[in-house]
Amino acid sequence: MANNIVVLGAGVSGLTTAWLLSQDPANKITVLAKHMPGDYDIEYASPWAGANYMPVGKEGSAHHKWERDTWPALKEITEKYPEAGIHFRGTLIYNRKKDQETDTGKWFSELTQPNPWYKDVVPDFKNVPSDQLAPGVDNAQEFTSVCINTAVYLPWLVGQCIKNGAVFKRAVFKHIADAANAHHTGQKADVVINCTGLSSKTLGGVLDDKMYPARGQIVVVRNDPGPMMSTSGTDDGEDEALYIMTRAAGGGTILGGSYQKHNWNGIPDMNLANRIMKRCIDICPSLVTKGQGIEGLDIIRHGVGLRPLREGGTRIEKDKVDGVAIVHNYGHGGFGYQASFGCAYTAVSLVKEVLQNKSRAKL
Ligand code: FAD
Repeated sequence: MANNIVVLGAGVSGLTTAWLLSQDPANKITVLAKHMPGDYDIEYASPWAGANYMPVGKEGSAHHKWERDTWPALKEITEKYPEAGIHFRGTLIYNRKKDQETDTGKWFSELTQPNPWYKDVVPDFKNVPSDQLAPGVDNAQEFTSVCINTAVYLPWLVGQCIKNGAVFKRAVFKHIADAANAHHTGQKADVVINCTGLSSKTLGGVLDDKMYPARGQIVVVRNDPGPMMSTSGTDDGEDEALYIMTRAAGGGTILGGSYQKHNWNGIPDMNLANRIMKRCIDICPSLVTKGQGIEGLDIIRHGVGLRPLREGGTRIEKDKVDGVAIVHNYGHGGFGYQASFGCAYTAVSLVKEVLQNKSRAKL
């Protein structure tokens, strides 16, 4: 018996969930979305991400499990499918205790501690000897991570879904239950998976007032400094961040950033952009030719994305709205890629429960 499934949303959450579901030929999947890979829009977080794997989930939490379970999938894709636009990259993390109480310091508190759970997950983890630390840095570590070229990876995920028979359609919904009537077969969907990110705040039938943005501003440059790096904070403001990551397959280098909670402004702030570029050169002089400042950066574009944060954490659970079975998978903040497979595995297991109940009801 075929299962009619609608995935609402074509960001990394929707596409990963759709890909996993599409691997079962019994599932007939329609992916519906206002924005698709190729679009750049402030309502669409996924294209703006770096994106890399820098775990931030607290040890023992569901978030920890989602990130832990995602690494093997990202590693396998990196090794088996070079066309997916992911590469391994050496990574340096610097921690300053004075950042502990800032928004960025709290966001990165698991990432920056000397003995994190992910030391047993990523390859080559080691603490930098204390006599090699720069002044002001309390501890630092290095490991091998990945950097994802989102402009290549998102379309690659679309391709994997289409190869497995999934159908993609543009659509905008005011109410989540309406998505059940838009399955490509013309039949009503058995289940709708809600992967609408920050828009879950305003989508009828969901209206999740726990959702809020953390604004991330970036500068994409052609310069390639080598390893990725990130710090626990900056001296320019409690919601400003510092990270550098070079994307695979000619995707340029992302200079970040900011973590501005409740800020919806989609226009790049050029003063912030200057601070971002300056900070990145200060910590990584090899970004530019010796002696150069920000004039040595070859800018591709300035960008802003809104991380879809949720008070109380990511929502992955079953729901019923106007008689339509829903599985939610949204609210992935700044970790939508690095937790993508872990979250999608959980969502898929909930979809299976819904479909089993449907089969039982028909017996
Ligand atoms: P989105 O990508 O926002 O997708 C939502 C989808 O739902 C879209 O297709 C949209 O059109 C659709 N939709 C919404 N409402 C409707 C509607 N009413 N009708 C139809 N369709 C609708 N994460 C990492 O793991 N690593 C990183 O290094 C990283 N860096 C980041 C840097 C920045 C600057 C930013 C902004 C984010 C970063 N993130 C990173 C976080 C990551 O980008 C997000 O967590 C992730 O993209 C969220 O994906 P999503 O699919 O849930 O939502």
